[in-house]
Amino acid sequence: MSWLVDARIALVLTVVVSCGCNLSTTKHSQPQTAGPGSVTEVRLVNADHEPGNWLAYGRTYNEERFSPLQEISGRNVNQLGLAWSFDLDTHRGQEATPIVVDGVMYFTSAWSRVFALNAATGALLWSYDPKVPREWGVNACCDVVNRGVALWKGKVYVGTLDGRLVALDAATGKLVWEQLTIDRNWRYTITGAPRIVKGKVIIGNGGGEFGVRGYVSAYDAESGQMVWRFYTVPGDPAKPFESPILAQAAKTWSGEWWKNGGGGTVWDAIVYDPELDLLYVGTGNGGPWNGKIRSPKGGDNLLTCSIVALRPETGEYVWHYQEDAADDWDFDSSEQIILADIPIDGKTRKVLLHAPKNGIFYVIDRENGAVISARPYTFINWATGVDLKTGRPMETDIAHYPGENPPPIVPGPLGAHSWQPMSYSPITGLTYIPVNDVGFKFKAADNFEFKKLAANYGIDTVAAGMPQDPTIKKAILDTVKGKLVAWDPVQQKQAWAVERPGPWNGGTLATAGNLVFEGTAAGRFEAYRADTGEKVWSFDAQTGVMAGPVTYTVKGEQYVAILAGWGGVFPLATGEVSFKSGRVRNVSRMLAFKLGGKASLPPLPEVEEPILNPPRSVADSATIHRGEALFQRFCASCHGDVAVSGGVLPDLRYSSTLANDRWFKIVRDGAYQSLGMVSFAKEVSQKDAADMRTYVIFRANQSKADQVPHK
Ligand code: CA
Repeated sequence: MSWLVDARIALVLTVVVSCGCNLSTTKHSQPQTAGPGSVTEVRLVNADHEPGNWLAYGRTYNEERFSPLQEISGRNVNQLGLAWSFDLDTHRGQEATPIVVDGVMYFTSAWSRVFALNAATGALLWSYDPKVPREWGVNACCDVVNRGVALWKGKVYVGTLDGRLVALDAATGKLVWEQLTIDRNWRYTITGAPRIVKGKVIIGNGGGEFGVRGYVSAYDAESGQMVWRFYTVPGDPAKPFESPILAQAAKTWSGEWWKNGGGGTVWDAIVYDPELDLLYVGTGNGGPWNGKIRSPKGGDNLLTCSIVALRPETGEYVWHYQEDAADDWDFDSSEQIILADIPIDGKTRKVLLHAPKNGIFYVIDRENGAVISARPYTFINWATGVDLKTGRPMETDIAHYPGENPPPIVPGPLGAHSWQPMSYSPITGLTYIPVNDVGFKFKAADNFEFKKLAANYGIDTVAAGMPQDPTIKKAILDTVKGKLVAWDPVQQKQAWAVERPGPWNGGTLATAGNLVFEGTAAGRFEAYRADTGEKVWSFDAQTGVMAGPVTYTVKGEQYVAILAGWGGVFPLATGEVSFKSGRVRNVSRMLAFKLGGKASLPPLPEVEEPILNPPRSVADSATIHRGEALFQRFCASCHGDVAVSGGVLPDLRYSSTLANDRWFKIVRDGAYQSLGMVSFAKEVSQKDAADMRTYVIFRANQSKADQVPHK
């Protein structure tokens, strides 16, 4: 059995069997701490010796999101109840994993705000607002989210949406230092959690959709000074390359890729391997998505869509494995990486487990980056698998969207699995993946022109929009699904799956209590038997849940906590598709559970349904089509595909400004800049803005006639 090979788990089980007590007794072996948040390298490397804490983003450096705690188990999980909740005053997305150190919980909310709570009671200890200028929100592809903090020697570290790395005093939340990590002339954002390795804070950024060049940097945790920076794609070849690998990488590009950044951003996965002393980062898609625009004469476009191993002291390149050469589909490889030792052909191998957006589950030798096995973990149609001799995907003939009317590619840019963290239980040997099944109609854009404030995909965003023919629409929506998949990485096959009505369900947590916890897009927080997938507990969270759960103990009592709240790219950008998952509201709050917990949530206040009352649509079809193209390019990534909002940001079909000139004050004069809606005047003329509105009026009338349900 696979768990036998894991000495740590064998040790933990021995302790349980011999003393007949629960694991919370191991709290006695927790090191004496020097003060709040005193996480050290020794504690992080030995995180399994203190299972009562959740010391880092994935709990341990291996980022398995597996907890040895088992007070809460399949036998008693039906007694799990709410211990406390903590309300957040925002309606933007919640993606953070909390860190719990010695009874204190640290986490982030929207706009990179940081909170410290008493982990047993939910009482607020302090909060910190980095005061991200709201106009920076336009630079975020995927909501103004943040996925969490890192703790190190009494300090809390957070990357802010506007590109700062901030160090706070863990006791007080007071600012210690902050450092700008980006060039603000470009649309960089930070949404990922920093990681701390050997006294260095490692942080990347996002923006691959908007024309940035990807990199990851290390800062000294004490002083905030930059120690190294590694660029993931080559810059202008007329200038010296920053590292030898970039000279090689430049040979895999063509045209003038550097002018549009190239992408390859390190927006999520950054994982340290203490055994091999390597740092693995996952890189994002090439930018623009359409490879023929990005690199017109072809080429693999290294190091986009890759896992790259670096030396943590220097940022020196060690190896890479590219999952998608010549990416055409926004197939980021930035999704979380899990380090594990698993048996392959009778030998224990040091591997990393990866389920990136492209729908293929990879087991990769982390000593050299060689792919050991790779198999689709859900339905895909862009490839049939991976050629293990070359490591390259075996693409189908529709992959690079040929011709005028190419069929949809599955998965689409949402990814078969995105940032929602997966987990791996060394006891069951299974990986628990929140899977999205959503295709996307890619068609190359005619006459693509890079625009600073637009989505720069290089594809025809009108062709990608939801058709309004009811039969076609229904057929498309019927294919949209989600599921929780338990995947066996040794056999490379599904052990069990739980079907969901739609995608964008939460990250997962596996425990030694034979449980897997997951929040759902439909508004539940649930537990399943880790070995069989049998549902054993469910809680009405009143809101969609995307984030990853954690578990910890305070005074020997086990808690499970989840940051509830709906948002992210799915409800912002995908319009009606997002309704498949559940018509949830965003109620942002931290929820903590324990056995016998008796707290309850206040009932949700009734919300009055808005009334669709647009001016009459009188425009000619040419104007409407022109407006549609502008809307899909400039507006849809926040206000929703074909002007249907997923309920997080305003649905413009209901806007009173459709009937007055305030529309122009907002779109061109920046009247709502303080709310995050900047002026688009530099790229959107008065006529453009008028045509956009004409299109929204048309859509509002169309929806009224169809009685399209709305939020
Ligand atoms: Ca991307």
